[in-house]
Amino acid sequence: MSVSPAPLPPPELLKESGQREVFCGLTSIVWLHRRMPDAFFLVVGSRTCAHLVQSAAGVMIFAEPRFGTAILGERDLAGLADANEELDRLVKDLLERRPEIRTLFLVGSCPSEVIKLDLAKAAERLSAQLLGRVRVLNYSGSGIETTFTQGEDNALLAMMPLMANSDEEQLLIVGTLADAVEDRFRLIFERMGIPTVRCLPPRRSTELPPVGKGTRVLLAQPFLSATARALQHRGATLLQAPYPFGVEGSRDWMAAAAGAFGVPDARIAEVLDPLVERGRRALEPHRQVLVGKRLFLLPDSQMEIPLARFLARECGMELVEVGTPYLDRLLMAADLALLPAGTQLSEGQDVDRQLERVRAERPDLVLCGLGLANPLEAEGIATKWSIELVFSPIHGCDQAGDLAELFARPLRRRALLQLS
Ligand code: SF4
Repeated sequence: MSVSPAPLPPPELLKESGQREVFCGLTSIVWLHRRMPDAFFLVVGSRTCAHLVQSAAGVMIFAEPRFGTAILGERDLAGLADANEELDRLVKDLLERRPEIRTLFLVGSCPSEVIKLDLAKAAERLSAQLLGRVRVLNYSGSGIETTFTQGEDNALLAMMPLMANSDEEQLLIVGTLADAVEDRFRLIFERMGIPTVRCLPPRRSTELPPVGKGTRVLLAQPFLSATARALQHRGATLLQAPYPFGVEGSRDWMAAAAGAFGVPDARIAEVLDPLVERGRRALEPHRQVLVGKRLFLLPDSQMEIPLARFLARECGMELVEVGTPYLDRLLMAADLALLPAGTQLSEGQDVDRQLERVRAERPDLVLCGLGLANPLEAEGIATKWSIELVFSPIHGCDQAGDLAELFARPLRRRALLQLS
């Protein structure tokens, strides 16, 4: 007689709503404009918005930047000027100077939303004027009730109406990846025998993939809730897999795609086993630093749950609390199932109460937004900026060592400081 094991208790969920300390969706322009060099992101906002995007992208100097801000002046905000006329004039000037732009995103902000500037209508009007030359889309990057990664979700959603319908069989990787990482994944999928692999967003903004019943969606980023549902609505199937962070997550992610295309287990193992072996070796020196250390993840990027899964299961870290700005159970199902039993989860933010818990627990490391890192460091608590994880190539077995190193580095630094 066999006895089936008792089911693991579900993670504990604490819901919070209070003051939030997160960047807004404008931040996502920093990685989206790198991904699609033929697109331009025009923020319609205030000087604050311009400063945010400039400082988020501050380390990059371009001869020809691919983002800018149409600043709403006092007269616009007071409703004394016709902001639409100003916008049309500015777009015309921009496109005359930059004929290489193929897609123009009008990105809404808190100020444009407060004065109810209808950017959807503006995009429609400009698209009609520029027909055949430039496609004008719009989405919101406003910080009202959103977190910074939702900017990408909104941008992808804005592109969806331009995606053709097709029932062609294809694997669609959804979410921005570094180009080199994407190339590696394509090669691996090709070796496993998946015939057609496409990406959203694509490298050229005009080469959007089609979507339909033959599309199997593999999410590369865990913060694309609206896009995932819109793709399902267009007939695509959402593959369930942990996110490709760490060796285990990456292997399961690639294997889920291969399985969906009928690739035999033996072939999957033949291609992936050497990658797993190499990834584990690269992880080991960092695992030695991380094992047994206590980690507190504050809600910021929506990547917290898969990262916690990786850091607990592959690096041996102890999870004190795993915070996420918004818990999407559909998109997180596979990662949630792999979290250690009894993990304390929190959804939403009440920054003061969360900081009180951090101070009471005195973890070895806190993953948090930039705004909270300095005060915590000043109190002697090591931190890792969560935004760095969106800007770094961390997907895949080959990146597992680098990902672990990002968390080991602040602990190594602190240990050195204590020695000196
Ligand atoms: S969109 Fe809102 S939160 Fe973001 S920089 Fe502008 S004003 Fe600030």
